[in-house]
Amino acid sequence: MHIPAYAALSAGAPLQPMAIERRALRPDDVAIDILYCGVCHSDLHQVRNDWGGSRYPMVPGHEIIGRVSAVGSAVARLKVGDPVGVGCMVDSCLACDQCGHGEEQFCRQGPTMTYNGRDRVSGETTLGGYSRMIVVREPFAIGLSPKLDLARAAPLLCAGITTWSPLRHYGAGPGTRLGVVGLGGLGHMAVKLGVALGCEVTLVTGSAAKADDARALGAHRVLLSRDAEAMKAAAASMDLVIDTVPVAHELDPYVRLLDVEGRIVVVGALEQMPVNAAALMRGRRQVSGSLIGGIAQTRELLEFCAERGVYPDCESIPMQRIDEAFARMERSDVKYRFVIDMASLAGA
Ligand code: NAP
Ligand code: ZN
Repeated sequence: MHIPAYAALSAGAPLQPMAIERRALRPDDVAIDILYCGVCHSDLHQVRNDWGGSRYPMVPGHEIIGRVSAVGSAVARLKVGDPVGVGCMVDSCLACDQCGHGEEQFCRQGPTMTYNGRDRVSGETTLGGYSRMIVVREPFAIGLSPKLDLARAAPLLCAGITTWSPLRHYGAGPGTRLGVVGLGGLGHMAVKLGVALGCEVTLVTGSAAKADDARALGAHRVLLSRDAEAMKAAAASMDLVIDTVPVAHELDPYVRLLDVEGRIVVVGALEQMPVNAAALMRGRRQVSGSLIGGIAQTRELLEFCAERGVYPDCESIPMQRIDEAFARMERSDVKYRFVIDMASLAGA
């Protein structure tokens, strides 16, 4: 079956229309007609091969919302027509200790990523959500509440869960003084989710122009990272900091924001980032990382957002404008997540 999609044919090449194949359904597969797909900064990193290991042609996209269009013979939980979400993973071993306690992102055999991964059965490169249809193993298609507004939900599948997971893992709630570094796709979700959980939220930004937006999103305070005096005044004032900056940067200025026992969770840059050990010792501060989140926790997030009406701020684009969206993302000119309306790919 030929499926319309958009693909990069080499590192950094503009995306172009391409017909792709999707596998015939295995017994525990579901086929999904894709309605919306969010645009994550990881898509840009991967298209450009920033992290190494990119394979082409590449069809990015791991913030997928759609409806089930067909189910394999052993599928019991989902039926044709159900609204579903698919995030960064489409399979894992489902047998190891990590999969067993719902942390499929840490699968001992490695999860199968939604794109630029390797299918566990055929060994073929996986192709993502910048397409009209996808086939995934049933446990990785998350059934959605009828209350959820599908047109605004796609970014929850990556930007949402990547910030929700550390917030939940470290017990953020009323009384937690939360810092969020960077107001992009992940950062604006961290602000909204932190506020919804009752945290006292400070946005730390490089962009003075985003201060009003941050307050409108619910942040209680805004700190300009370039303002040395303000950064100094805010020393030791936070319990948890989520750092979403997409490139290597100095961690020390953010470590100094942490109070005793405070923790900074890096979710953005993958590069080497040195940290001053003395600053960690003083106050028993901790630096850690976090990778997306498991399926059960993603389900929890989607239910929370449906019940509470917490949604990303989405700018809808047609598939044909993806390169313009990438360029704007690179200039930090996104308010605050692009979402591709896949109806634009009809008959492409
Ligand atoms: P984004 O929408 O582009 O937002 C990143 C924000 O970081 C920008 O809006 C900007 O905020 C700040 N920023 C950008 N360039 C910067 C620079 N050179 N120096 C300092 N700050 C800069 O990106 P995103 O989609 O949120 O993704 C952020 C990062 O998370 C990416 O690297 C992505 O690959 C990664 N990611 C990780 C996971 C995970 O599981 N750990 C999951 C998804 C994405 P201000 O203007 O407010 O400073
Ligand atoms: Zn992502």
